[in-house]
Amino acid sequence: MLSKILRLFVKEKKIESSNIVQNGNLTTKELPQILDKTGIGIIVLDANDCIAQINSVSSMDLNIPKDYEGSKLVEVFNNGEIINLIKSAKVDTSAEEEIFGVDPGNKSFLVNATYDYESLETTLVFIDITRIKKLENIRKDFIANLSHELRTPVAVIRANSESLVDGALDDKEIAQKFSNAILKNSEKLSYLLEDILNLSTIESGEYNLELAENSISEIFKTSINSVLSNNPDIKIINNIYSDIKVICDTKALLQVVDNLIENSVKYGITEESKEIIINMQDQGSRVRFEIEDHGQGIPADQRERVFERFFRIQNNNTSLKEGTGLGLSIVKNLVNLMGGSVGNEKAYPDGTIFWFTLNKKN
Ligand code: ADP
Repeated sequence: MLSKILRLFVKEKKIESSNIVQNGNLTTKELPQILDKTGIGIIVLDANDCIAQINSVSSMDLNIPKDYEGSKLVEVFNNGEIINLIKSAKVDTSAEEEIFGVDPGNKSFLVNATYDYESLETTLVFIDITRIKKLENIRKDFIANLSHELRTPVAVIRANSESLVDGALDDKEIAQKFSNAILKNSEKLSYLLEDILNLSTIESGEYNLELAENSISEIFKTSINSVLSNNPDIKIINNIYSDIKVICDTKALLQVVDNLIENSVKYGITEESKEIIINMQDQGSRVRFEIEDHGQGIPADQRERVFERFFRIQNNNTSLKEGTGLGLSIVKNLVNLMGGSVGNEKAYPDGTIFWFTLNKKN
């Protein structure tokens, strides 16, 4: 029975066939050890549902000390779903169930129970699916967020075009208003699509990153000049004091710097403060860059969250500004790909410092 299960895992490519003992005659002693190596948990219950064998992975993952061999499973791991699963296996020979939130670590498992009518043993196999479930949830959230973000501009474009077709075209003033709404929302859609394509290219590993030692001062100057040309009334103090070289991809670094400076203009410029400060610290093996504004700032509990896809702070400072909530997610991915890290902290007295680091040499 146990070798049958093992072969099933080989077939489903859950374990390497090279892990099987050559002559194929696996003993119940060998199997738990092999499964330990593959991270698969196994518990064998005798005819009285007492633990006859348990491997290290299940004892660790389910918090069952190894010396519980001989105890009834329900006494050491009282999980209703597992008990029902064992009952089903005794009726149908085998049964499978996903169980969630198992301590320690709130893990998720795919559990397979097989009952052997000859030996009256039940074999439980636990496969950790925590990571797969997490990724599945991220994907579901992404699709939900995306459709939510797409719905509004698409609805506005449709409603305004319908009104134009239905006669609003004849009134020049109204036609102008509706056409402007269509233009604005189609721009919003194209920014959204551009950011999504960008993010998926980066996350799928298809971003063509050319990492090399590059000077950084020109990149900052290019970004600053482009921001200043669109916002002539703001002041950017550039304290990049030397043309130090860092390991980066120039295109990706420009995108990071553009994004952070544009954000500090968008969210950090107020009537009282129209100043942005760019600082640099040589920290030996790496360089830290800071973009500091004195705007409304970011609440402490949302400092990490702003890097999540589609996350935008729920306040007037954000809701009055156009945005997709994807910019900082792109920034974080790009900085990480270049070997650095990124974060933000409170500026004094108010505002935010976004920082990122890059290595000087490989
Ligand atoms: P977007 O700007 O398109 O909304 P981002 O991912 O660039 O998306 O930013 C996420 C959110 O983080 C913004 O919506 C804003 O709420 C907040 N944020 C970003 N930069 C700043 C800043 N310098 N000061 C205050 N809030 C900021």
